[in-house]
Amino acid sequence: MSENLLVIAEHDNNKFSTATYQLLSTGHMLSEQIKCSLSVAVLGSITPKALNELAEYGADKIILVEDEKLNQYVSDVYTHTLSAIITQENPLLVLLNSSFAGKELSATLAARVRAAVATECMAVRKTDKGFEISKFMYGSKISAKIELYGKPVIAAMQTSSLSIVKSKRAGRIVKLNISVPETKFRIVRQENNTEKIPLSQARAVVSGGRGVGGSDFSVLEQLAETLNGAVGASRSAIDAGWRPVSDQIGQTGITVSPDLYIACGISGSSQHIAGIAGSKTVVAINKDSHAPIFSKADYGIKGDLFEIIPCLTEVLKARKH
Ligand code: FAD
Repeated sequence: MSENLLVIAEHDNNKFSTATYQLLSTGHMLSEQIKCSLSVAVLGSITPKALNELAEYGADKIILVEDEKLNQYVSDVYTHTLSAIITQENPLLVLLNSSFAGKELSATLAARVRAAVATECMAVRKTDKGFEISKFMYGSKISAKIELYGKPVIAAMQTSSLSIVKSKRAGRIVKLNISVPETKFRIVRQENNTEKIPLSQARAVVSGGRGVGGSDFSVLEQLAETLNGAVGASRSAIDAGWRPVSDQIGQTGITVSPDLYIACGISGSSQHIAGIAGSKTVVAINKDSHAPIFSKADYGIKGDLFEIIPCLTEVLKARKH
């Protein structure tokens, strides 16, 4: 087992993200097929208990770089540290989450270690020469299979559609001493409401666009809460300052693939649709019957979102009890 695969873990408040377990499960399945080992890189401080859990999901080796400068994601510091790990480990494949940070990291790491890279990957398969990646392309107009060669290949995965499978392996913890540089960026700490389901992981997403008409997204939030989901937004809502940038869905935002996507007051531009093509069921609520979103939706409701959403929420709440 001289070859290996490397997963880059994400953690917050001493807990690994669901995406980390999904990436490990995918990595484990691939490592069984290729007959190689699976390592996971963990940056920053984390409890031994949380670290040991990684072995339950197939990690043979847990590479830990403990430095307080790594407790918060900063692009240049993470790129420096992870490229040092990749150079040392020499993996066939690096798997990371296709989140905002993950997409940025996959690009900077690829440039640093001169690797082939793909983001928003739905599935990865080993081929004779490299790895075959399934992903949407050209604003989600086509579903493509591309093959990447070289060592390593870097794949930022669309984790919401990946399953979690437990599989115990050795989980040997190896602490690496890498000299971590100071960042060149100014760090602004944003408080996250950890109670909320991350948008990229939510099975139901309620999104608002310009049609919401202001920063009061409370009707959408109530519907999302009833569905145990999360709230997203179109770029118009982000540009207007109604929602944080991390909520933007689409070509220049994040891609989501929930079971249910409800677009409220969103016209359905190709750039927005690019971020929702993997959704299982799309429902559109729009007062303009000619809005392009209706041609992309499985179900369309013509009308004012402020009348429709509260009714929908009430009905769904009543069904829950
Ligand atoms: P609009 O197009 O203005 O639509 C608002 C809709 O709300 C209308 O259909 C209207 O009928 C409806 N409405 C109004 N009031 C109500 C009401 N009370 N009830 C129900 N319906 C109502 N956009 C993204 O979303 N994500 C991206 O990642 C993205 N990337 C881009 C990248 C580039 C390079 C470019 C050029 C553009 C990008 N855009 C992106 C912008 C995109 O082109 C659209 O401008 C944007 O998606 C429109 O947002 P919207 O649908 O909220 O607004």
